[in-house]
Amino acid sequence: MTRSSIVDTTLIGARRDRRGQPKGRVVDPVALDEVRALLGDAPRRADLLIEFLHRIQDAHGCLSAAHLVALAQELKLAPTEVYEVATFYHHFDVVKEGDARPPRITVRVCETLSCAMAGAEALHAAVERLGLEDVRVLSAPCVGRCERAPVAIVGRNPIPAATADKVAAAVRGGELEARVPAAIGYDAYRAAGGYRTLVECVGGARTQESVIAELDDSALRGLGGAGFPAGRKWKIVRGEPAPRMMAVNIDEGEPGTFKDRTHLERDPHRFLEGLLIAAWAVGVEAVYVYQRDEYADCRILLERELAALQRDPPCALPPIHLRRGAGAYICGEESAMIESIEGKRGMPRLRPPYVAQVGLFGRPTLEHNMETLWWVREILEKGGAWFASYGRRGRKGLRSFSVSGRVRKPGVHVAPAGITVRELIDEYCGGMAEGHEFYAYLPGGASGGILPASMGDIPLDFDTLQPYGCFIGSAAVIVLSRQDRARDAALNLMRFFADESCGQCTPCRVGTEKAVMLMERKRWDTALLGELSQAMADASICGLGQAAPNPLACVVKYFPHELEA
Ligand code: SF4
Repeated sequence: MTRSSIVDTTLIGARRDRRGQPKGRVVDPVALDEVRALLGDAPRRADLLIEFLHRIQDAHGCLSAAHLVALAQELKLAPTEVYEVATFYHHFDVVKEGDARPPRITVRVCETLSCAMAGAEALHAAVERLGLEDVRVLSAPCVGRCERAPVAIVGRNPIPAATADKVAAAVRGGELEARVPAAIGYDAYRAAGGYRTLVECVGGARTQESVIAELDDSALRGLGGAGFPAGRKWKIVRGEPAPRMMAVNIDEGEPGTFKDRTHLERDPHRFLEGLLIAAWAVGVEAVYVYQRDEYADCRILLERELAALQRDPPCALPPIHLRRGAGAYICGEESAMIESIEGKRGMPRLRPPYVAQVGLFGRPTLEHNMETLWWVREILEKGGAWFASYGRRGRKGLRSFSVSGRVRKPGVHVAPAGITVRELIDEYCGGMAEGHEFYAYLPGGASGGILPASMGDIPLDFDTLQPYGCFIGSAAVIVLSRQDRARDAALNLMRFFADESCGQCTPCRVGTEKAVMLMERKRWDTALLGELSQAMADASICGLGQAAPNPLACVVKYFPHELEA
């Protein structure tokens, strides 16, 4: 008997009970037919698992055990593989046998910092009190619309500056779908000279080397948070053996960040042109664009505009695949995003190897944030020196600051790198909101730390904030006033991290939960919190666990008067 036949017999034996019936769940033929109908003629590939889970959930309102088992059979995966992916993401509703189906409509009330400051807790309670039929109300992590806080999402319909009345009206009016933003469409973009630079590149009027040199001159850096020089990244990936892949990150889950959405909903083809120029310069085989599920409006827009581009392309295009996230902050981390694109749980990979060498589907991968690509066309048209000419205090370039909190004009403000928060508030945000006095600010979203107003003259850019225990990240600036407390902000963010930890490593999974417990106490035990923070920073696998203690460390350092509630 061969080894494989022994294994087969053992497996068959293990899968039958004493009456000779197959063990485990039998595939329900009705569920299987429904899954097959939803999958249509799509290839039965494991990397499409999350896409298929969305199709089932969109059609049936949840993921039943029968559908998960049927999907596993259809994809030739173990049911546990399908189950572990489905249960990893917040937006999938896995219904166990015997459990009730979720109500028909879900209202998600964002309760992360900017929305919390704008009264999210009261909003949540008020919506609950409405007692709307067949509606459940859930707390949600940052939904990327902080400039119009507080925000609730009814079905897929975001309600800015939400009130209970607005939510009730949307529910009763059946307004459950996202509205597609009025963006510059394909024809208008081309009529205004769009895709001319791409055609110059592909047609040979520009060389890959000259384009990369222009990027180097511009000092453009990765604007998702890491700040790696874009031109250097293109060179590195281009130097790796083909086939190379490209993965674009529009996950934008960092609390306070909404710049990618803002740019995308105004001018999607500027981003697509930058993407195509990067793909050409680096020589990639295929492009995968990963978009967070919370941006349903942008997803519909991008699908529509990409289809228009593909119907009438200005030149040959590489395959471009749009992938839909499913509610997981960690998928903004580049290797977790790659895992998710491959249809798995979004768990960060250990590095090395780096994604530039071993990335998507094991191939060298150019990974970029959306905004970085959004600047490429303008830099090539106006020259790298044009972009680099902006900047204050010796810094170079422009940054899209997502500003929220207690300012008169929250929103995305494109401003010179190296601007201070005081200048940003005064020159771009119309000053502080009525009745609010500047007290503190977060220079870089949830993990970038918290600084007092007395330190409001530090240049905001990559590398300028580290000496203070902070960083700029994706340039999400949240402004606090004397009506807020830094310790409340830090606790809100630690709760966010505890919810969003992928659970892969203990210092982060357990550390964030313990930190929440300690920070809920009236008086903070700074020695214990310090030890815990050190362990998290030293031993966590990825940036989430490493940087999660930053806000609390800043409270200890800069707001000692707040340590006792
Ligand atoms: Fe996951 Fe946190 Fe570990 Fe990152 S640090 S891998 S998010 S558990």
